[in-house]
Amino acid sequence: MLASPFGNCRKCNGWGFAMKTDRKGRVKRGKDCRRCRSTGKRIRVGRWLYNRWTRIYRAGTG
Ligand SMILES: [Zn+2]
Repeated sequence: MLASPFGNCRKCNGWGFAMKTDRKGRVKRGKDCRRCRSTGKRIRVGRWLYNRWTRIYRAGTG
């Protein structure tokens, strides 16, 4: 389930851009999310994943 190297950007909920509401309460598209470069995805390069991958790699090669 969490094996994917990509995860939704938590800043923009995976939309790739910020949401704004104008004075009338309408939802508008804001700026592109700089955190994920407007892709909405973030690469998981946490230590958790690295450790896991290393383990699998070691297990495969002996
Ligand atoms: Zn984002």
